Amino acid sequence: MFSWRAEVMPGVWVAFTDAEAGNLALHVGDDPLEVRRRRAGIEAALGLGSRPFRYMNQVHGNEVAGIGAAAAPVRGVDAPAGGVPTADAMVSLGEPLAVMVADCVPVVLVGDRAEGEPPVLAVVHAGRPGVASGVVPAAVARMRGLGTAGLSAWIGPSVCGGCYEVPGDMRDDVAARVPAAWCTTTRGTPGLDLPAAVRSQLQEAGVSVEYSGNCTLEDENLFSYRRDRNTGRFAGLVWTDTGTAQR
Ligand SMILES: [Zn+2]
Repeated sequence: MFSWRAEVMPGVWVAFTDAEAGNLALHVGDDPLEVRRRRAGIEAALGLGSRPFRYMNQVHGNEVAGIGAAAAPVRGVDAPAGGVPTADAMVSLGEPLAVMVADCVPVVLVGDRAEGEPPVLAVVHAGRPGVASGVVPAAVARMRGLGTAGLSAWIGPSVCGGCYEVPGDMRDDVAARVPAAWCTTTRGTPGLDLPAAVRSQLQEAGVSVEYSGNCTLEDENLFSYRRDRNTGRFAGLVWTDTGTAQR
């Protein structure tokens, strides 16, 4: 069910699902009842009870939605209670969060706060436009605004620079904004290294990167849009043990 899963600090968990967990996206033509059943199955397996993962309507932008107590009327994108925000990052004070991907970079962030305070959680959908427009630093800034001290990040599976071929002018465009994105593919053609770009944005923002996942295109246990245009989406997840958010 998971390509990677760990308790990253006491009571706080990060995981990335795999193809065995099935498609978790409602926007790829799959049966919505089946998608909801799979999402609920993961929540049940993790013992989340009545605290479902919050998913977002991802649009390759750089808006950050505040969820639950982290919501603040900033830029008008914060989700109404229980709603699905249109955004490419979400920040919460302990509410479980999910980001869907198949080649784009899923980023999960956790920030600790004072003793007895719930942690600040975040997920980010960082594809090529999101990397170029700074959705990762935007999410980090929003987390810092909630009073977190130490921030750590987990970069899930995504297409690697060796596999992600783009036109030369597109490589130049993105690299002009994030130099670490510039690369050459294994075929010797212009490429973009999005995981390296995300890593550089995190490090520049003072966030430590704890983990990086495999290449989706090279791993049959993960969904890859570049391998199959009709593919599903796997998810990056962050949640707290029951009670941690309310502690
Ligand atoms: Zn690859």
